[in-house]
Amino acid sequence: MNLPVNVEYIINTLEKAGYEGYAVGGCVRDHLMGLEPHDYDITTSALPEKVKELFGHTVDTGIEHGTVTVMIGKTGYEVTTFRIDGKYSDSRHPESVTFTSDLEGDLSRRDFTVNAIAYSPEKGYVDMFSGVEDIKLRIIRGVGDPDKRFKEDALRMMRALRFSAQFDFSVEAETMKALRENASLIVNISSERVRDELLKLVLSKHTERLALMLDSGLMGYVLPELVPLLENVNLSFYRRLNVLSQSPALRLAYILFPLGEKKVKDILKRLKFDNKTIALTLLLVRNTNIKTDDMYCVRRIISLSGSDSMTMIEYLCAVNSEDISRVLALHNKIRANKDCCSLKELAVDGKVLAEMGIKGRAVGRALAAALDYVMRFPDRNEREKLLGFLRSIS
Ligand code: ATP
Ligand code: MG
Repeated sequence: MNLPVNVEYIINTLEKAGYEGYAVGGCVRDHLMGLEPHDYDITTSALPEKVKELFGHTVDTGIEHGTVTVMIGKTGYEVTTFRIDGKYSDSRHPESVTFTSDLEGDLSRRDFTVNAIAYSPEKGYVDMFSGVEDIKLRIIRGVGDPDKRFKEDALRMMRALRFSAQFDFSVEAETMKALRENASLIVNISSERVRDELLKLVLSKHTERLALMLDSGLMGYVLPELVPLLENVNLSFYRRLNVLSQSPALRLAYILFPLGEKKVKDILKRLKFDNKTIALTLLLVRNTNIKTDDMYCVRRIISLSGSDSMTMIEYLCAVNSEDISRVLALHNKIRANKDCCSLKELAVDGKVLAEMGIKGRAVGRALAAALDYVMRFPDRNEREKLLGFLRSIS
């Protein structure tokens, strides 16, 4: 495994001081799968205080759990002391963590075999739970007794399904059985943590694995509203979902729209999505029936969605099983022509209307009518022409 120089430097520094140091978890897994790791976690026998002593610039990110971030230039690397988790009594957090001096203890507290492989340039791969084999078999298997492991931390059930969807791995039979038996424990996990895993699943390349959420019973606790919907979708639903851009609002709207705006809003709030994602998802859901037939339709789409117009077009084409290239061609033409698609670009404004004697609520209505007019007739976005139009309708 070719480690980045900074990671190698951290491991070397730990080893020179007499400790063990390994790259571990996602980065080793990703490397073995031929994927580019997005970050590197390091595990060490050195206690956090020692790690702080050995490196010039560190940040105490989660020092009570043994994690110190070592800064090299502007990049941070999480270095965590080998630890064993204490007793779990709430399906969420260990009551305590104990530092240990042996790697095996640390690897055995990890969730899945594919996430429990360590690597150091000195020692090579340390794979006590046959993670390499499971990567070859393309399976997600719990480390140790999956039933016990899901009872300790119920979030692991969501993690199993999202890894399965990200890598197109199946969930090993015993692990799946334990998942079915423990699904109800997911209610002990905070909405934010469930949301993060759910979103990774929804944004993955194999969203057909959402069906595992139904199969395991997790969906009934996380998104009960979706159960009747997903029970009735066919493969083409997933095929279209899988090829959509990885925009949270786009994919969420595509999955949730049949529930209607009100329920979608409740769901997104309950799962504590951020306001921007909620607003865009609701905009899409609200406008599901808008047409994409011609230039006027596409200008209206732009007027409603502004800088998110591409997302809205992709959404509408997916929902209506329509070829996107035709609509994109219209969109590009409108952008190239710089056609007016917003009140900002309109050749009249509230001040002009006031001079015409239009006041109060009528101002908004008149501006909306003028915008609609120029979206139908883009060459009429001129002050005189619009004043004439407004006089004709008042
Ligand atoms: P990603 O590519 O999404 O970052 P990852 O495997 O690195 O995947 P992280 O959440 O970053 O996932 O966790 C890093 C490592 O910590 C995991 O590979 C796993 O070994 C361990 N881990 C994380 N969460 C848990 C958990 N809930 N229970 C047990 N081990 C966990
Ligand atoms: Mg990670």
